[in-house]
Amino acid sequence: MAGEQADGAPRDDCLFCKIVAGQIPATIVRETTTTVAFRDINPQAPTHVLVIPKAHYRDAAVLATAAPSLAADLLREAQAVADEDKLESYRIVFNTGSGAGQTVWHAHAHILGGRGLQWPPG
Ligand code: AMP
Ligand code: ZN
Repeated sequence: MAGEQADGAPRDDCLFCKIVAGQIPATIVRETTTTVAFRDINPQAPTHVLVIPKAHYRDAAVLATAAPSLAADLLREAQAVADEDKLESYRIVFNTGSGAGQTVWHAHAHILGGRGLQWPPG
C-alpha cells in the first residue's frame, strides 16, 4: 500500500510488537528466529493460535509484498502448530482490512481447529 511502513521495524503503538518484545504476556506455544505463535486471548475454537512475524507489517498483503519469505515462514509455522495440537483439519485465516474483521494491525495468521468449521465463514 502506498505510503505504508514496510521495513519491518517495530512500532511502539503495536500490541503484537509488545508481545514479541516480552512487554505484554502471552501464552507462547512456538517461537522461531522470525516468528512467534501464541494462544488467542479470546479463542473461537479449541485450538486458536496466532502466528505472527517478529517484524512489523500491518497486514498480510504488505507482508506478502515486502517480505514473501517471511509470509512462507508463517505458513510453515501454522502447519507446525497444527501438528503439535494433532489437528487433522484446520483453518488458516488472515483477516486483511477492517471490513474483514482485522483489529490488530500487525500481520497475523489465525490457526483454528479442534471443532467442525462451517463454510462459508461469516
Ligand atoms: P484480528 O481481528 O484478525 O485482527 O485478530 C486479532 C486477534 O488478536 C483477536 O482474535 C484477539 O482476540 C487477539 N488478541 C488481542 N489481544 C490479544 C492478546 N493480548 N493476546 C492474545 N491475543 C490477543
Ligand atoms: Zn507490530
